[in-house]
Amino acid sequence: MGMDLVLLGPPGSGKGTQAAILSEKYRIPAISTGDVLRAQVDAGTPLGKRVKAYLDRGELVPDSLVVDLIQHRLSDPDTQQGFILDGFPRTVPQAEALDGMLAALDRPLDAVLYLQVDPQAVRERLGQRHRGDDLQGVIDHRLEVFLQQTAPLISYYQAQGKLKLIDGAQPPEAVAASIDEVIRRLAGSANGSSRTPSRS
Ligand code: AMP
Repeated sequence: MGMDLVLLGPPGSGKGTQAAILSEKYRIPAISTGDVLRAQVDAGTPLGKRVKAYLDRGELVPDSLVVDLIQHRLSDPDTQQGFILDGFPRTVPQAEALDGMLAALDRPLDAVLYLQVDPQAVRERLGQRHRGDDLQGVIDHRLEVFLQQTAPLISYYQAQGKLKLIDGAQPPEAVAASIDEVIRRLAGSANGSSRTPSRS
């Protein structure tokens, strides 16, 4: 089964950890827009210079920029059997752009895994990381940005019947087990459904 997944959740909800586990298990790439952007900043590329201030402040970079980035990445052959998006989409326009891209490829998303965690737990987790944008003021702002700009995706994907709630407060192995359970159910219900032959 090809598997096209989105991991949704506030900063610090464990998306990166779960994306890595899923990537290894299903041998499909985990694509993190945050990682790509940070690598550009570190390498001092023109794109990196353009986005650094957004990252430092915990603001979202412009939609068009990440949409282009994802569009290019999804045309790479290693995404043929599936992909895990970690940190994209982050706004409704990004989600609409993704739907458009995937419709053109005739490969709609299989599921959006929403890692639910309470904001106070997230603040504590992020405070223990040592990333440039994990300073307390920036953390608080990133949580606000999540609530204002990204949380609307919960109802967006719920309306599409794609949203799967995962208790992200559990230890990472238990979160991974919950995700496995969801994927097993998806695989079960996909039996006999209309996947395009080239991807089945
Ligand atoms: P992350 O590693 O996913 O927490 O992302 C780190 C930072 O990269 C965010 O605070 C944003 O500045 C930027 N970023 C990552 N993904 C996106 C996205 N989909 N849309 C806009 N900005 C993003």
